[in-house]
Amino acid sequence: MKTIGLIGGMSWESTAHYYAVLNRETARLRGGLHSAAVIVHSVDFAPIEAMQRAGNWEGAGEVLASIARSLEAQGCGVVGLATNTMHICAPQIVAALTVPFVHIAAPTAEALLADGIGKVGLLGTRFTMEKRFYIDVLEAQGLDVLVPDVGITNLNGIIYEELCLGIVREPSRQIYVEAIGRLQARGAEAVILGCTEINMLIDDSVSPLPTYDTTDLHAKALVAAALA
Ligand code: GLU
Repeated sequence: MKTIGLIGGMSWESTAHYYAVLNRETARLRGGLHSAAVIVHSVDFAPIEAMQRAGNWEGAGEVLASIARSLEAQGCGVVGLATNTMHICAPQIVAALTVPFVHIAAPTAEALLADGIGKVGLLGTRFTMEKRFYIDVLEAQGLDVLVPDVGITNLNGIIYEELCLGIVREPSRQIYVEAIGRLQARGAEAVILGCTEINMLIDDSVSPLPTYDTTDLHAKALVAAALA
């Protein structure tokens, strides 16, 4: 198994979940006492989030690219970035690496297409829902992507002011469930949990639509790439 390099800490709540999935998936595929060979580089999220708010994606990309380079130098054979939003900086990271980078939207699109989904709702931070970097990757795979037409500020605030701080509130769950219901009414057949913390609030048991959890799909894809 190649060593997986995981750039995490955005937030650490979801990186902890990644770490568990990487290990469980490796054990499932390899059996016995096998666990994931992984180096997690977990950042301090506050300065990264400040760069997001300032629109300094170039600066944030430099930080992440330099971490990616150091993970490769430490022997990682595959690298992943444990946040949807910061995939805005994916081109800078890819340019810094000679080993494969597994984009979080790739296994997500693959899972949707395998299940015959054509029109999908996307929930995430306002950057993921409003900018093109994520939707373009999904659309390039032939998916039709819907984002909420109302309530984006609220959905975004719940991520940064609650989930990234480990706070899970029932009223916030209801706001997400209602947003998924509205996407369903507009024709979405499934919903992408396109922020690595949304699985703290939403799963198939509460969602009106089938969910595609990017954290789970991405972590499993990283294991597959490390074993390939
Ligand atoms: N983890 C989040 C995501 O998947 C949001 C935090 C961030 O801005 O990186 O988009």
